[in-house]
Amino acid sequence: MTVAPNIRVLPDNLVNQIAAGEVVERPSSVVKELVENSIDAGATKIEITLIDGGKSLISVLDNGHGMTQDNLAKCIERHATSKLKDDDLFNVSFMGFRGEALPSISSIARVNITTRTKDDENAWELVVEGGVRKDIKPAKLNQGTKIEVRDLFFATPARLKFLKQSSTETSKCVDIINRIAMANPEIGFFLDDGVKKKIALNAEQGELFDAHKKRLAKIMGKDFAENSILVNQKRENVKIYGHISLPTLNKNNSLSQYFFVNGRPVRDKLLLGAMRGAYNEFLAGGRHPYACLFIDVEPIDVDVNVHPAKAEVRFRNNQLVTGLLVSSIRNAINSAGHLASNSLSSNAIDYIAKGNNPPMQMQLEENQQAGNFQYQSQTPKSYRSDLELNDYMPELRDNVSVKTESISESVIQDDFDKPLGLAKAQYHKNYIIAQTQDGITIVDQHAAHERLVYEDMKKNFEANKIQRQMLLIPEVVELDAVQFDYIINSASDLEKLGLIIEEFGDSTIIVREIPSLIGDTDIKGLVKSIADDMAEHGTQISLSDKIHNIIATISCHGSVRSGRVLNFEEMNKLLRDMEATPHSGQCNHGRPTYVELKLADIEKLFSRT
Ligand code: ADP
Ligand code: MG
Repeated sequence: MTVAPNIRVLPDNLVNQIAAGEVVERPSSVVKELVENSIDAGATKIEITLIDGGKSLISVLDNGHGMTQDNLAKCIERHATSKLKDDDLFNVSFMGFRGEALPSISSIARVNITTRTKDDENAWELVVEGGVRKDIKPAKLNQGTKIEVRDLFFATPARLKFLKQSSTETSKCVDIINRIAMANPEIGFFLDDGVKKKIALNAEQGELFDAHKKRLAKIMGKDFAENSILVNQKRENVKIYGHISLPTLNKNNSLSQYFFVNGRPVRDKLLLGAMRGAYNEFLAGGRHPYACLFIDVEPIDVDVNVHPAKAEVRFRNNQLVTGLLVSSIRNAINSAGHLASNSLSSNAIDYIAKGNNPPMQMQLEENQQAGNFQYQSQTPKSYRSDLELNDYMPELRDNVSVKTESISESVIQDDFDKPLGLAKAQYHKNYIIAQTQDGITIVDQHAAHERLVYEDMKKNFEANKIQRQMLLIPEVVELDAVQFDYIINSASDLEKLGLIIEEFGDSTIIVREIPSLIGDTDIKGLVKSIADDMAEHGTQISLSDKIHNIIATISCHGSVRSGRVLNFEEMNKLLRDMEATPHSGQCNHGRPTYVELKLADIEKLFSRT
């Protein structure tokens, strides 16, 4: 028989070390806790120094309200906080409130806290090593607090081995500070790793959105600042605001999506998922937008206690938050209309300026050999005689309401004023060059038309007005078993989109009617693409996303292919339709449909500026 063991209440320091296991994972978690304390203390300038990625030293200096000598003695006590005034755990407006950070950190490292309030004659300093405190002594410091944390985990060496090399730990700290800095543009942040200034962000002045944007330009880059749109919406007690990228500015991971709930950086699957949904119809799979979004809810409607490092949140009403997130993003993109990212033109200029263009002589020869140059004079009379309107997709004429009445000179002059300008020529049977008031635009006709067909189908689908066209000879399409299953199971959705199919024996279907919008197209290829797309996304996506994917596939198959010669009138019609169509700045895969070069940009190319 074993002896029943005695229960013992753990000593404070051990309790603190256990708590530190939760709160302090690595130097960046210490940096986060200390900087949040500085923000809570009303600091407007916070300076961080790291030595060996924070493993030897983390120092955080602020100009906040400081602590009195009494409070300095208390601040390292377990569960001692100045931030929970009325015992209401669900009404917390500070970053911290658990009173856990300082005692935990002091139990595992050597900590010096120096602090001074505005009424103090001098500063006070407290030293704690592995939870053992020394006497408080007078010290020198301006108003504020300086906390130095040396030899992190010296008291719990087992945890040292989980630390990475210094440069990795430094970048984790830089990442945390950047996130915190995004949410606090009115505070200056500086970080030095002992060798180099890694962060130098002066406090931004001005109205909140402006200050945010200036701060974001410094952290996320000029491209983002110049190609972002403002989000600002409120529903019930939820407010969502911030900046998101135009769909044409995207990347291959979601790491540039930053979310803040009540000012705290969070990385939450729910929010990332909502973001994906909101951009679904503007971006190809695998591409992700940039975003910096703030979600403010009543403190009582969110639980930040889910995880001590507070990276995840739980909302009382998830649907309200994600619903508002999706709709505010879509509204913002809608309001941006046909805008495409303007960094595209600067990228193009940089590319050319770096000498990536072959010598002129060679280009000329290539063009002559290939007969690639198609010039359309701007007067309708000079249409190439060998160019029939039938050459052009019939749907552009009939369904997207192209009116082919003759264009008067005055209309043409007016077109210079239009955002996309007056089409002057078509190159390589796919690129329309147009002249605007102060530059030129180059339009990818295939990408642009694909988007127009997509938007048109979407509109008609929503209004339940998709027109169908009966095939004179129904098309028999053989599929593999998987494709067949997906198509047959989606027959009723496809019907709503104007595609009438029936089972026709073993893994074979027959297509009887197609959406009239898409005209003459490779029906077999279309059906197979739709099936493959469904197989790729599986059954996990929502019906509306599935419908949008099908519409995207149909419009890709039904749009003016590159390689089709367009006449002057048709080109201008395309440009005017683009201007009138939302989201026409990007194709369904998030690629731009046009690039604009301002005269100033062109002058740069010739070194005229
Ligand atoms: P919490 O932030 O949850 O209150 P902490 O352990 O992080 O717990 O801090 C304990 C207390 O120490 C805080 O409530 C605050 O009163 C005081 N404090 C900590 N850091 C600072 C600082 N930089 N300036 C002023 N007071 C501070
Ligand atoms: Mg704190």
